[in-house]
Formats: sequence, C-alpha cells, structure tokens
Amino acid sequence: MIAERTLELPGGVARPDGAVCRRVRVRQLTGADEEALFERGRAGSARVTTFLTRVIEDVEGLDAPVDETLVAGMHLGDRDYLLLRLRQLELGDAVHEVVRCPACARKVDVDFAISELPVRRLVDPQPAYRVALAAAGGREALVRLPTGEDQSAVEGLALENPATANTRLFARVVLEYDGRAPMTEEDARAWPPAVRAELASWLDARAPGPDLLLDLACPHCKADMSYAFDLHGFFLPSSSRASTA
Ligand SMILES: [Zn+2]
Repeated sequence: MIAERTLELPGGVARPDGAVCRRVRVRQLTGADEEALFERGRAGSARVTTFLTRVIEDVEGLDAPVDETLVAGMHLGDRDYLLLRLRQLELGDAVHEVVRCPACARKVDVDFAISELPVRRLVDPQPAYRVALAAAGGREALVRLPTGEDQSAVEGLALENPATANTRLFARVVLEYDGRAPMTEEDARAWPPAVRAELASWLDARAPGPDLLLDLACPHCKADMSYAFDLHGFFLPSSSRASTA
C-alpha cells in the first residue's frame, strides 16, 4: 500500500545540477482535494496545479519544497500521468463512460482500463533539444518540452483560435531558432505553416506522458468516435458525456 503510492514520472523534474528526479510520493486523497480540483471560476491547469501541490508529498532526490511553482513547472505529461494514476489508486483501474455518438446520436458504453493506456517515457531527459527542421531547410530550433505553466498561458486561446495558441506556445518553448534568441510571438507568427506543423508534430511525438486518445468506432453506425479521456472529470466514477464535441 505504501509502495503503491510511489509513482515513477514519465518525464521527471530536473534539479539545478541537471539530475532528473522521477519518483514521486502521493498521499491518500480526501474530499477537500476533490473540491480543489473542481473549484469553479479557475482555469483547468491552475486547479490541477493546486490539486497536485496538495497531494504530492515528496519528489525523491529533490532538495526543494513541493510548491505551486514547482508543480506548474512540471511536464504537462507528468501532471496528466499523476492525475491518471491517482484516479487509478483511488477509484480503480476500470473506467466506464457513456458517450454519445456524434454521427447517429446514440449512447455508447465505453469501457477501458487505465493500465492499458500507453505511456511515453523520456529516455534521455534534457532541459532542451536541438531539432533540425526539414521544412525550414534544416535550420535548427532549440526546443524545451511544454509544462503546466505553458498550458496555463494558452488554454484560454486553444478553443478560440488554435493557431494563435500554437503561436504563443512556440514563442514560449522555442528558446532559439536559427541561432537567434529569444523568440517572440511575432517571430513564431512569421514562420511558414509547414515549419509550425513540423514543430507541433515534434512536440506531439516527443513529449512524455500518457496517451489519452481512445480510438473507437460507434457500434451502431460505425462512425469514428475517437476522443480524449477527460482527466479533469476523473473523480466521477461514471461520467456521462453529452457529446464528444
Ligand atoms: Zn453512431
């Protein structure tokens, strides 16, 4: 029971000396933690930061307190991973959801096990990576992986205008482009779409964390109804989804 509450982050928290700490101990949750996660009027990523700061007891090997700054600076995928594993520890491995098919509008039962979701682990964690962009004629970008703080910076924009959200994200995570630094949003906006697409797919392919996309077809009409598992609603043992939109 004790060992079970020590989790191995897929990305990890870097110490000032460069060493990466991956083992995190979490405590048993209470209703107050659940309330912190659902608190209205605050953005999702801020709630996740508050929630995880409450429940992480210790990051092994890290000589720093677990505060909101530390948790906001964690890899996005590490935060997702902790939410997912906490859901598994508290409520079990099996997830049942009812999802409405976007094509035929019929309700579909979706059952899966959290342990079946693939998790990508960083093999050689680095503060930032040199990426040669084929779409930019091999020009190099120095890129770091997105954190909870990056998510906070773009989450309001993501629904409104995903391209603007990408511009802001690139300006934050690209530390250097073609030997020039720092990047501004104007710089990122000036890049050709092919360069931006290449950067976005590099981030997708590289970032650590669980793959939350559930790949499924409607059993009634065979339409594709793949969707991402909603981690923020994860305490509800059975969540009814009105639509996948
Ligand atoms: Zn259907």
